[in-house]
Amino acid sequence: MPDEPQLDCPYLTPCPIFKYFRTYAKKAYLRMYCQGDYETCERYQLRQQGKPVPENLLPHGGTLWDVQPAQ
Ligand code: SF4
Repeated sequence: MPDEPQLDCPYLTPCPIFKYFRTYAKKAYLRMYCQGDYETCERYQLRQQGKPVPENLLPHGGTLWDVQPAQ
């Protein structure tokens, strides 16, 4: 019997984006992406390509702020 399909995004623990969300938004993103259709997440796609993931990049491709803060 084949293995069960992976249900959660492999980058879920810990995904840096969640420190910016309160409970409601976090639950919404978890349902829509991380524990659902995570292959459509822009953060996931960059990780899969081995590219850096901007801190402010949201799963749907929007950003939390316009300019990446200095690190
Ligand atoms: S935000 Fe994207 S990369 Fe992060 S855990 Fe959710 S699906 Fe994975």
